[in-house]
Amino acid sequence: MLPSAALKGGTVLPVPALAGEYWVRTRDGAIVGRLGTGSGPTTMDTAKMESLRGTLLERRERIEAELDQMGDEIRSFADTQEPDVGAKNHMADDGTNVFETERLATISDDLRDVLAQVNGALARMEDGTFGICQRCGQRVGEERLEAFPHVAFCIECQTILEREHALRAGR
Ligand SMILES: [Zn+2]
Repeated sequence: MLPSAALKGGTVLPVPALAGEYWVRTRDGAIVGRLGTGSGPTTMDTAKMESLRGTLLERRERIEAELDQMGDEIRSFADTQEPDVGAKNHMADDGTNVFETERLATISDDLRDVLAQVNGALARMEDGTFGICQRCGQRVGEERLEAFPHVAFCIECQTILEREHALRAGR
């Protein structure tokens, strides 16, 4: 178990250490605990991780393609509005386009969120911290990772974070 400082500290940054041991430090650099020993922080075997890496790379490609496409669509809406000089009439005349542009922008934001999560997971595969919850430093369940390889948090922390988010959103 990690000291409570790590559990409360929000994000923990695992530090690869000597001889297969694994330490965790908070953002301010204090080392607050040891994750464990053995073959490293990731218990997942290499073949499994490689297959998840493939899934993540595929997902990244798909998201980037979709973002490209949406960017084009948003630009094409903007272009069709460009030649019109009567700026005041835009909202009324091009209401559909404005709505559509906003809708696309919202979807793009969501996609960019997922893309950031996918990139984060790939980066954690590189630095050997894939599968470690970025909030509490515990291992994320393997089944969870196989279902959602991009997740950064264990199920407990995810639940807490979602609750906090819902509270902030005033729900
Ligand atoms: Zn956690």
